[in-house]
Amino acid sequence: MNDRIVHMLDASPSEDLIQVEGWVRTKRDSKNFCFFEVNDGSSLRSLQVILDKNTSDIAQTINRISTGASVTFTGHLVESPGKNQKVELQASDVILHGEAPADTYPLQKKRHSLEFLREIAHLRPRTNTISAVARVRNELSYAIHHYFHEKGFVYVHTPIISASDCEGAGEMFQVTTLPLNSLDGSKPIDYSRDFFGKQANLTVSGQLEAEIYALALKNVYTFGPTFRAENSNTARHLAEFWMIEPEMAFCTLEGDMAVAEDFLKHIFTHVLEHCEEDMAFFTKWVQKGVAEGLQQVVEKPFIHLPYTDAVELLHKSPKEFEYPVAWGHDLQSEHEKYLTEEIFKAPVIVTDYPKEIKAFYMKLNDDGKTVRAMDVLVPRLGEIIGGSERESRYDVLSSRLKEQDLREDDYWWYLDLRRYGSVPHAGFGLGFDRVVQYVTGMQNIRDVIPFPRTVHNAEF
Ligand code: ATP
Ligand code: MN
Repeated sequence: MNDRIVHMLDASPSEDLIQVEGWVRTKRDSKNFCFFEVNDGSSLRSLQVILDKNTSDIAQTINRISTGASVTFTGHLVESPGKNQKVELQASDVILHGEAPADTYPLQKKRHSLEFLREIAHLRPRTNTISAVARVRNELSYAIHHYFHEKGFVYVHTPIISASDCEGAGEMFQVTTLPLNSLDGSKPIDYSRDFFGKQANLTVSGQLEAEIYALALKNVYTFGPTFRAENSNTARHLAEFWMIEPEMAFCTLEGDMAVAEDFLKHIFTHVLEHCEEDMAFFTKWVQKGVAEGLQQVVEKPFIHLPYTDAVELLHKSPKEFEYPVAWGHDLQSEHEKYLTEEIFKAPVIVTDYPKEIKAFYMKLNDDGKTVRAMDVLVPRLGEIIGGSERESRYDVLSSRLKEQDLREDDYWWYLDLRRYGSVPHAGFGLGFDRVVQYVTGMQNIRDVIPFPRTVHNAEF
C-alpha cells in the first residue's frame, strides 16, 4: 500500500522513487510538460504532478488522461517553484487505470449545486465539499467513541429490530415476512404467523435497552442507526439516521446536563484540532464563521433555562412568530433559534418541559405538571440533543403508563428495573447527522450522510 497524498504534501524533497495513486482533478498542457492535480481524498489539497511529454512511450497514455481518471504516477518529490505547495512530483512513469471520458463524466471543473450532487451520490464523494464532510464525520465518530471510552462508558449494541413498541408508534417502519396482501386492512392481522410471532419494527431509539445495561454496568452508550418514518420533509430529518445514546446510573438531570455539555465540547474541540483544513474550507465556502462559532461554544458555559421561563421570554419578545408560543406546546424550530441566536447567543439547555409533550419515562417533578427533561438547543440548528432523568419510582412510572394509555404488560421488563435495584438514572440522545450538520455548517442533512433516506428517496 502506498502512502496517502496528504502525507506527501508535507514531506521533504527526496531522490526516492515513490508512487502516487489517485484521481485526476485537473490536467494542463504545455509544449514539453503536462501538469496534473491528483487527489486521493486524504485532503482537500491535491498533489501537483509534472510529466515530461517527450518520453515517447507514455505520450499515448497522457492523451487519454482527463479529469476523473484514476492513475498511478511514479517519480520523486522535488521542491516546487510554485507558491501553493512545498513539493511536487516529478514523474517518470504513469499507469492509467480507468479513463473518465470528458463528454460524459459529470464532475467537470465547474461548481455543481448540492441538489445536483445528490442525484449522483455515487460520484459526489470525489468533490471537495462531500469529501470534507466525510472526513469530518469520521473524526467526529472517532471522537465520540474516544470520549466515552476514556470516561469508562461501555459501548452497548442495542437491537435494530425491535418488538417492543416504545415510543411514537406512528413513525415506525414495520418489519414483516407476512404476504403484503394480508396487510391491506380488510381483516385483522394474525401476527402469530409473522416471523417473530408478533409485530416488529425498526428501532426508533435504543434507550430502553440501554437503560437495562446502565442498571448493571453503570455508564453505557449506544451508537447506531435509528429509523423514523417521519413524513417531515425538512432539512434536519432523515428516515434513517445515526444516534448516540449515553445512559448513566446514579445520575440525575444535573449530571446528565453536565455530561452533555462536556461531551459536545470535547467532540467540537477534537474537530477544531484535527480538521483544521476542512473547517477552513467550510468557513470559506459553506457557512461564514462556522469554525469561530464552534470555538466560542467550546469556551462559554451553556445556558440553563426552565421551559416555563423560556415561554415567558418568548412571550416578551417583540418578534412575530409563525407559530404562537403557548405553555404546554412544544417549542418550534423558530423559537429554538430565537433563544439561541438572538437572546443568548449560545447553546441553551431547556429543562422541565410539560409532561404532556414528553415521553412517559421522564421523571415527574414535584409540581406534578413538568418532567425532568432537557433539550440542548444550538444556534443555526435548534434541537441537537433530547434527554432526561428517567422515572425510577415504580408507582409513578406505572401511573404515567396508564395516563398515556400504554399497557403495563408491554413494559414488564422496563417496570422490573424499578422493582429490583432501581436507582436515579439519566441519559440523552444525540442525532449524529445533526452534529455533523452543525459542525460543518451544511444547510441540509441530506448532504452530511453518504446515502440519505427520506420520503420517496432511497436511491443507491
Ligand atoms: P425533532 O423534534 O427535531 O424531530 P425529536 O424530538 O423527535 O426531534 P428525539 O426523539 O429526542 O428527537 O431524538 C433525539 C435526537 O435525535 C434529536 O435531538 C435529534 O438530534 C435526532 N433526531 C431525531 N429525529 C431525527 C431525524 N428524523 N433525522 C435526524 N436526526 C433526528
Ligand atoms: Mn422528531
